[in-house]
Amino acid sequence: MSARVLDGAKIRDEIQGELAGEIAALKARGVTPGLAAVLVGENPASQIYVRSKVRACEVLGLYSEKIEWPAFTTTEKLLGLVESLNRRDEIDGILVHEAVDPAKDVDGFHPMNVGRLVSGRPGAVPCTPAGIIEILKRSGIPIAGARAVVVGRSEIVGKPVALLLLHQHATVTICHSRTRDLAAVGREADILVAAMGRAAFVTGDFIQAGATVIDVGINRLTTPEEVRKAFHDPAGPLKQLESKGSVLVGDVQPEDVRKKAGAYTPVPGGVGPLTIAMLMSNTVRAARERRAGGESGTHRLPAAGNA
Ligand code: NAP
Repeated sequence: MSARVLDGAKIRDEIQGELAGEIAALKARGVTPGLAAVLVGENPASQIYVRSKVRACEVLGLYSEKIEWPAFTTTEKLLGLVESLNRRDEIDGILVHEAVDPAKDVDGFHPMNVGRLVSGRPGAVPCTPAGIIEILKRSGIPIAGARAVVVGRSEIVGKPVALLLLHQHATVTICHSRTRDLAAVGREADILVAAMGRAAFVTGDFIQAGATVIDVGINRLTTPEEVRKAFHDPAGPLKQLESKGSVLVGDVQPEDVRKKAGAYTPVPGGVGPLTIAMLMSNTVRAARERRAGGESGTHRLPAAGNA
């Protein structure tokens, strides 16, 4: 029997539906949540990312502002810009790190919000880790008491998702490039989170039968050799490589996870869609809590225990 697919796009739509109601209620009180995205330089990947955030704002009826400045912008000018955004009341979320008011730090990277995350107090939570918790909860996967193994210890995914799982009462192990016998540690997991950026690295040998596998990795394969290495049956992906020029694969071997896991997030269509949905959610919360008489802090940590 093949594992249950945890459909990120469906969960994103569910969250956006809920947000639409919240946004309508805020608008009725004269508050339109606003997001400012500051882009310095001409990194095409960042441009695409910012564009999709602005589009998500438009779809939900949020105010958004894209500010593009050249790569040679001085730090002083940039700090001045961020400072002016910090002061503007109609801006609830700002996307550039450093110098951002913690109350507007919808990415959750400000040291103050990192501190709140560690101690389990309300604060902005980084979007991808928050999205992973939403997937687990909304799919009815029990977290409390579960053995969770997180592979990767980055500031934006590995560490925060490990902390969120801990706050939800999982028993958490964090792995990284120096972990000995990674496969054996992986097999202990009821919930295995792969966030390493290594194409199809996590094979069936790492997965306990029936486990839930969350694949955060996004790896773009561009050569037939890479595709043959990542897929057991590469015929379909090779065709895609020929027609589209690249193939996406996660950190988990896609055929193995289907056979061995109980449930898993596919790539694409699993964790990815949640990231921008959680950014929208953080922005709406920031607006509600700062401008519409809500509590302080932008994103309340998901309630402990399982929904
Ligand atoms: P990162 O900063 O490069 O961190 C990778 C982590 O994986 C590091 O902690 C590293 O260990 C560990 N690692 C690397 N190779 C390993 C190995 N062979 N065995 C065990 N651990 C290993 O990456 P990231 O920013 O966390 O991103 C991880 C992946 O998620 C990437 O593919 C990225 O594109 C993707 N991503 C997806 C989304 C989304 O929305 N779906 C969002 C963010 C990131 P060390 O610390 O020891 O070096």
